[in-house]
Amino acid sequence: MDQITVEPESKKKFLLQHDRPNCIGCAACAAVNGKHWEMNEDGKSDIIGGKNKEGGWQELEIEEADVEKNLEAAETCPVNVIHLAEKEGKKVI
Ligand code: SF4
Repeated sequence: MDQITVEPESKKKFLLQHDRPNCIGCAACAAVNGKHWEMNEDGKSDIIGGKNKEGGWQELEIEEADVEKNLEAAETCPVNVIHLAEKEGKKVI
């Protein structure tokens, strides 16, 4: 018998991206969103649980519910190195 799964209201996934080489380590992202951002001892921030990508970038898949707080972090970042994209490809910020 087939198992019935209940779909969550929104399954939309987003990619949180950090252009880490250009981060100036101001700590604003960690102050605004401590769930996803922390300061590293090298003086730059990290996406908590993020994967390291080519060119020193970091990336993490997040749920739609976590977008707002990361949009806030992106808007707070003085050098605009925090990016968000829909998993299907559309860039948000
Ligand atoms: S707000 Fe931007 S520049 Fe400041 S630590 Fe975070 S990512 Fe780096």
